[in-house]
Amino acid sequence: MVEHIAVIGSGTMGRGIAYQAVISGFNVTLQDISSEAVDNAQSYIEGLAAKSREKGYIQQEQYDNVFQKIHYTTDLPEAVKYTDLVIEAVLEKVDLKMEVFKQVNEHSPESAILATNTSTMSPTEIGASTKNPEKFIAMHFFNPVHRMKLIEIIRGLDTSDETVEVIKSVAIQMGKETVEVNEFPGFVTSRMNCVIGNEAMNMLMEGVASPEGIDKAIKLGLNHPMGPLEMADLVGLDTRLRNMEYLHQTLGEKYRPSPLLLKYVKAGRLGKKSGRGFYQYDREETLL
Ligand code: NAD
Repeated sequence: MVEHIAVIGSGTMGRGIAYQAVISGFNVTLQDISSEAVDNAQSYIEGLAAKSREKGYIQQEQYDNVFQKIHYTTDLPEAVKYTDLVIEAVLEKVDLKMEVFKQVNEHSPESAILATNTSTMSPTEIGASTKNPEKFIAMHFFNPVHRMKLIEIIRGLDTSDETVEVIKSVAIQMGKETVEVNEFPGFVTSRMNCVIGNEAMNMLMEGVASPEGIDKAIKLGLNHPMGPLEMADLVGLDTRLRNMEYLHQTLGEKYRPSPLLLKYVKAGRLGKKSGRGFYQYDREETLL
């Protein structure tokens, strides 16, 4: 049974996963190598809890959990020492993820399940670097975690049925739906989302329409709740670029990252998290 969850990486996804876990009754430790990232995550989580309580989205007990049942740290061994489940949400780089899991393995209990929140990569490959690949799985959350209903679940070659069942029960406790997807680069969601977003960026580069025009056309004409450029800004353009690079490398030419995406990342326009991407953002509006 999972009572304690350690989340590794406190960026866009890690902090969202930690928030959802703590308001769902789990004890949580949130770790990052950067103390600034940990501090930012704490302010985000506490700010989100306050706004959510004010709007009636969470009860008083869930709000209290945010202050009593979550621990923030930069110390990885301490974060995973007594944990039942580790959810990794560091940058989308396979070597980094493997290195993180090597350390996690050294310091976590044998019984712990290890999950990666990778958007595109192979749980078989990442899991092969761990001592117990049968306890390794991909648990793909969506952004913003507190609002998005789905968790995609992807087994590695050796993932056991028991591991899948435990992850499904954690997802249910977090109020999420699951879809089990076979291992293939980008799974269902990232592969589809990356292609749509990349096409939108190429259209913008070719002068087909403005960002507002492209997003409005897709929302009102194709009934998508968000436009592809708004979506890319929300994901983070650096993260999106890493996803595209991985898909390009594994699935071929169709997934070549748009030159416009490369240009924006080089310019430091990373989307909502940096205040500017395809759109300009007011820092205050990013919470709910
Ligand atoms: P991010 O850049 O916002 O955050 C990554 C965090 O990892 C940073 O705070 C960084 O300091 C930390 N980090 C780097 N190396 C570390 C280490 N060795 N130990 C601990 N922390 C470390 O990235 P993100 O958007 O949160 O993405 C994280 C993962 O989630 C990626 O695999 C990404 O593909 C996946 N994902 C992202 C989204 C999204 O919409 N952004 C959605 C689903 C899945």
